Amino acid sequence: MTVVRLCELLGQPGPSTFLRGVVAGGRYANAYLFLGAAGVGKGTAALAFARALLCETRNGPKAQGGLFEEAAAPAPGAPADDACGACSACQRAAQLTHPDLKFLFPVSGEEKDLDKTVAGTQQALRDDPFFVFNYDKAASIRLSLTRELLRELAYKPYEAERRVVVVRDADRMREDQYSALLKSIEEPGASTVWVLTTARASRLPATILSRCQRVRFAPLPEQTIQQFLEQRVGVANREARLLAALSGGSLARALTLRDGEPLKERDRALALLEPALRGDPAALWKAVQGLTNFGRAGREVLRRMVEFHQLWLRDLLRARYGAPREELVNRDRETEIRRQAERTEPAEIRRRLMVLEEMLRTIEGNVTPELAMFSALSRLSGERPSGDPWPPHPTARWDY
Ligand SMILES: [Zn+2]
Repeated sequence: MTVVRLCELLGQPGPSTFLRGVVAGGRYANAYLFLGAAGVGKGTAALAFARALLCETRNGPKAQGGLFEEAAAPAPGAPADDACGACSACQRAAQLTHPDLKFLFPVSGEEKDLDKTVAGTQQALRDDPFFVFNYDKAASIRLSLTRELLRELAYKPYEAERRVVVVRDADRMREDQYSALLKSIEEPGASTVWVLTTARASRLPATILSRCQRVRFAPLPEQTIQQFLEQRVGVANREARLLAALSGGSLARALTLRDGEPLKERDRALALLEPALRGDPAALWKAVQGLTNFGRAGREVLRRMVEFHQLWLRDLLRARYGAPREELVNRDRETEIRRQAERTEPAEIRRRLMVLEEMLRTIEGNVTPELAMFSALSRLSGERPSGDPWPPHPTARWDY
């Protein structure tokens, strides 16, 4: 398992500086809430913070009958505001085996398999440095595990001065779990530091929100994601650029998309353009139906296909305004982009972008994916219903 330290958090200078300040000062709040979109590094930061807090080079291991008294002085050269990454506590925290680190996360599946499911996820997290938590709708932080944890909290920490409880996606709990948790958070002089993470803060009860110190995480810059994919994951440049553009600032999303052969997926999505622009509904309908892998994840697949088209159109606009090759997301198809850009007026590109924007909004409705795709694509080549000028777009997302 890769041991990420607070000083190494990807693209999150604000939280990194703040948390290191907390560690250096040694004064911890009872609870922290890490807020921000999914996949921007909140969970990684929470575990890094926990390790920094538990690291022995600063705290020294608890004296046990004089045996460790010699080791209690901070090691020379050890960081005052971060985990050392080398001591026994750091190692065990990284392996999730430190007795004073509790880590809760949502799980799905049957209660009788719970131990196996939890152990399996923890093992995957240790083995795969790019592991991404993916939950289904029903996944939740299990009541039985919270109960067990709360029983343990009644005792003193085993080794460290404080124990850390990290709760990933804390919005996936039941109401009565929050009230139990609240008692622990409110306890003065508690020896437990809670770190909750959430991408959906509005689902947390106000009582919890008001008692946590909040740490905000921003979406990651596209370039940061691209560099990470190229340098750390070994993704080829043209694919990394596309993934970063599709990620919406979420590294987890980029990593998930990487598993699905994004370039091929893009090419299949873009292949639909040809019959659409030719204005051949029969051929288009056939082509759309050929993509019947929409299945259970239908809306997500559809959203992605629309996004591929949006990125393509934005490339056309960029090319139209003379953007260099590096600016193009689909730079592996540069010749085609330049050729199309030459033939298409910016106003027409914007009109198409609006059709797609509108389609993204209707995806949440009860339209079958095939029909939604078909109707949007047919309109890509369609004429405007009236001669009125198109209204200005509220977000002007293409203006770059
Ligand atoms: Zn350490």
